Amino acid sequence: MNKYAVYKSDYENIYSAIVKNFEAHNIREELSPDMHVIIKANLVTDKNPAFSVTTNPDFIYGIIKYLKEIGIKRITIADCPGGALLLFSKMREVYNKCGYLFLEEFAELNTDFTSVRINCDVDFKNKNFNIIKVVADADYVINAVKFKTHNATCITAGVKNIFGCIPGLEKPEFHAKYPNINDFSNMLVELAATVKPDFTIVDAVDIMEGNGPTNGQRRHLGLTFSSKDVFGIDKFIAETLGIPAEKIPTIRASENKGFISSEYETVGDTEFVPDKPIVLPEVINATSRSKKSEARIKFIFNKLSNNFIKKIPEINSDCTRCCKCVMTCPAKALKKSSDKIILDKSLCIGCFCCDEVCPNHAINIVRKFKLKKQ
Ligand code: SF4
Ligand code: SF4
Repeated sequence: MNKYAVYKSDYENIYSAIVKNFEAHNIREELSPDMHVIIKANLVTDKNPAFSVTTNPDFIYGIIKYLKEIGIKRITIADCPGGALLLFSKMREVYNKCGYLFLEEFAELNTDFTSVRINCDVDFKNKNFNIIKVVADADYVINAVKFKTHNATCITAGVKNIFGCIPGLEKPEFHAKYPNINDFSNMLVELAATVKPDFTIVDAVDIMEGNGPTNGQRRHLGLTFSSKDVFGIDKFIAETLGIPAEKIPTIRASENKGFISSEYETVGDTEFVPDKPIVLPEVINATSRSKKSEARIKFIFNKLSNNFIKKIPEINSDCTRCCKCVMTCPAKALKKSSDKIILDKSLCIGCFCCDEVCPNHAINIVRKFKLKKQ
């Protein structure tokens, strides 16, 4: 039976929570000293940990400390950030800005984004994925998640974190290939099922809420989560935090595939209730309605939304014209002019990769009426 753990913690005493999470699932029984263990962090962009965008370095240090104490000799931290940051020469700068350089004393910081092709289950829509070799070759993969809200997928948790295993500029191509969020989420679930992380542990000590994944507000929640089940943990987190699971397309996709069991066990500080609701992205909240007329309103909203409303990025005055968004956009919808960044709305597929890589909070996601059905 799948087991989900939740433990309260601050970063100051994070090691105790890390130990409880590992011990709750007997992870030490699955590891041996000669194994190469990968910690797949969330390093989506080059942000200071204070912004709560990336997995906190103290959280990662706690994992490394535990692994060292049980005798693991080779540990590598890996992720493949989005868009323009995929340029290899920038990866060290990402580690630096995210506060990871001190970890080099205890673990390798991966900068090799060579990929290998991994075949998927024959029943999947995707036939294969190219994933970074360091993850594909690992003996054991720890999915070290930063919990955040997300403009497109509502939350970033276990399943979404695995998207960072896709290398280089291939990542935005998936947004272009799957512009519909349900198709995109199905791809994420198939990717997670192909990578098969051995253990998922979630940094929800300081989270980002609101317009995540990079431009929301930091909030202290004081929680950690863990499970060997990368699919069900997302639903457990959503339920613990009072976020309706049906709002989260990756959970819907996991359930559609039968990957989330209704029978499970929970351990730890399971009585936790947030003092106030988690603030979801405005574009997600705009679809919220009362239970009473939910089905009907949802039907009408989806019709309207699909046919007449488009979510698009709007560049605000904080833009420094660094062009990270231009280089990242998979649809080539952004261009730099002499004095601003221009969006071609007809090309935009609403993937929000631009928002993810913007270092200056210069992108707002807004709803616009389409002039005609596209
Ligand atoms: S919107 Fe953000 S990423 Fe794009 S050019 Fe402006 S500052 Fe750079
Ligand atoms: S402009 Fe932004 S949201 Fe639109 S396709 Fe490009 S990266 Fe995606």
